[in-house]
Amino acid sequence: MQQVEQLAVEHHAFGVAKITVQIGALSGVEAELLNSAFSIAQAGTIAARAELLLETMPITVRCQSCGAESEVSLNCLLCKTCGDWQTRLISGNELLLKQVEFITAADA
Ligand SMILES: [Zn+2]
Repeated sequence: MQQVEQLAVEHHAFGVAKITVQIGALSGVEAELLNSAFSIAQAGTIAARAELLLETMPITVRCQSCGAESEVSLNCLLCKTCGDWQTRLISGNELLLKQVEFITAADA
């Protein structure tokens, strides 16, 4: 929310219309919890009427043996190309502010 308010000031925005957040499947963040936390946090701020969009990101790993990237599930982090278990996490644990849509003077 702090990040959003700072961005709004930088953009000379009157308000915030939409906030898109990416949540990795490994981040441990529950979309429902984030939603309710957001509605509490947004009250009285520049984003008071903003809509929150949550995008769930898949878990992706890169294989250390063959270099292939695979989209995997939480309980099976094996390379899908060669079956090796020596994989490195590329994405899946992020909690990212992806996009913020502002209401500007032109919209008002
Ligand atoms: Zn592999």
